[in-house]
Amino acid sequence: MDYSKLADMLFPDVSMTPEDMEKRYPERNLPEGAKVTRIAPSPTGFFHFGGLFPATVAERLAHQSGGVFYLRIEDTDSKREVEGAAEFITKILGYYGLNFDEGVTADGDKGDYGPYTQSQRVDIYHVYAKQLVRDGRAYPVFSTDEELDELKALDKKAEIKSVDWENEAQARREAMLKRREFTMEQVEAELAAGHRFALFAAADGDPEKKIKITDLVKGTLEIPENDEDVVLLKSDGIPTYHFAHAIDDHLMRTTHVIRGEEWLPSLPKHVMLFRYLGFRLPKYMHIAQLMRLDENGNKKKLSKRDMGANLDDYRRMGYSVDAVNEYVMTLLNSNYEEWRMQNPDKSRLEFPFSIKKMSASGCLFDIEKLNDVSKNVISKMTAAQVYDGVTEFAKTEDPDFYETLRADRAYAESILSIGRGGAKPRKDFALWADVKPYMSFFYDKYFTRQDEMPAGKDAADIKSALEKFVETYDENDDQTAWFEKCKDIAEQIGYARETKLYKKEPEKYKGHVGDVAAFIRVAVTGRQNSPDLYEVIKILGKSKTTERIAGQIKLL
Ligand code: GLU
Repeated sequence: MDYSKLADMLFPDVSMTPEDMEKRYPERNLPEGAKVTRIAPSPTGFFHFGGLFPATVAERLAHQSGGVFYLRIEDTDSKREVEGAAEFITKILGYYGLNFDEGVTADGDKGDYGPYTQSQRVDIYHVYAKQLVRDGRAYPVFSTDEELDELKALDKKAEIKSVDWENEAQARREAMLKRREFTMEQVEAELAAGHRFALFAAADGDPEKKIKITDLVKGTLEIPENDEDVVLLKSDGIPTYHFAHAIDDHLMRTTHVIRGEEWLPSLPKHVMLFRYLGFRLPKYMHIAQLMRLDENGNKKKLSKRDMGANLDDYRRMGYSVDAVNEYVMTLLNSNYEEWRMQNPDKSRLEFPFSIKKMSASGCLFDIEKLNDVSKNVISKMTAAQVYDGVTEFAKTEDPDFYETLRADRAYAESILSIGRGGAKPRKDFALWADVKPYMSFFYDKYFTRQDEMPAGKDAADIKSALEKFVETYDENDDQTAWFEKCKDIAEQIGYARETKLYKKEPEKYKGHVGDVAAFIRVAVTGRQNSPDLYEVIKILGKSKTTERIAGQIKLL
């Protein structure tokens, strides 16, 4: 058959050649060892939390090596597409600090290797489609997409090793070979009738033979050669993932393809296509999917419907960007936590990320661990950083609290400073959402008396202790002087000055100084637990403290 003629018949409008493409997208001029990586999400309006793992690996490898990290939008499956999804993806990834050097941005494409959205690259795919026809590697099939879907379903069925597997595989093979048989006249007639065609690559592999390929995480894999014809273009001319992957990653000069493990079974197809196209194979890293434990303790994929699967939920729930990123790093590199202990104050970006320290099996998602990591991360922040984080969160999630915080930044920061900065900072917050319940009693509009006075204490004693406290309170007292006064009060109402005195001879006292502090705490904060009482009262100020105590006395 005259393949050149066939190519011209199928793609009469394509005049460019692969050489033209090579000129348009030359090798990148980067230092030796610089890696070019990308993420290539489909714009479905949903970004899986697990997607942050390959994205982080890609970002780290590129930026650590002085390379390029870019975003490509894979919108070839228009059925799954959601409007505005590309903007959503750039926004959410930007929110997590995954900054792209190139690719789709909210303000259009950035970089010399675009367009970066696949639907805008159809002309490019057709150049290579035409070349493969010319090379006798690809052939048209004049079927509707529905018919093709049926074929696909048949292929799927054959993959599941049913009893009839041998027969089905044989039937499939025969159907495939039949598809490859056609005459030029038939093609001419189909085209003249205005029928559309899908384009297939004719597989030349022998599944009995294995090819060796190195996955940088999984090691050397032996995979069977591909013997299945691959759909390159659907009948609307739009490429499949396989075809677009080979062309885009070649022309955009990707050095490392980092993607989900679900693509591993397609690798034989990709290896074949790269060979047909005359492209050098990139390095591959297939990242295992994020797992969770089910009710019975078995590992399961964290699926789209599972709680915690939607990356955007973490922002809404109030996790800080730093905590999520820190957690991801902890799971990605086995020596990260050790490094963090030795370098508590360094940015995670200073950690020498290494492919060798990645685990080949799936990471296990554990919300308790995330919360722990998060508490540590927030405990190391300054009060100003916490203020900024919680304010940003409240802006969309709790507008009333947002206004409250904004009304007096200094006041809020002084509250957030309690117990911060020392060798053992408080670890009260895993979430920005934890901040409001923690500090709400500092604001009259949120203040409620949620806890009772300690049980079994005499109301008259409580009242007397509170009155004495108001009488003697002096804003200029330091913590020691302040506590001395509490001890004096304890003594005056028949309580022990020291807890240990009480413990020694409990029959001698009605209680101890700790109880006195508890009376004051409940009266002032409405709770049995609060941050350091001396600091709390200092921040609240004398008049508000007095007012709160008066309110409490009325209730006794
Ligand atoms: N569009 C593919 C996906 O969303 C990308 C896979 C890849 O990174 O090559 O799964």
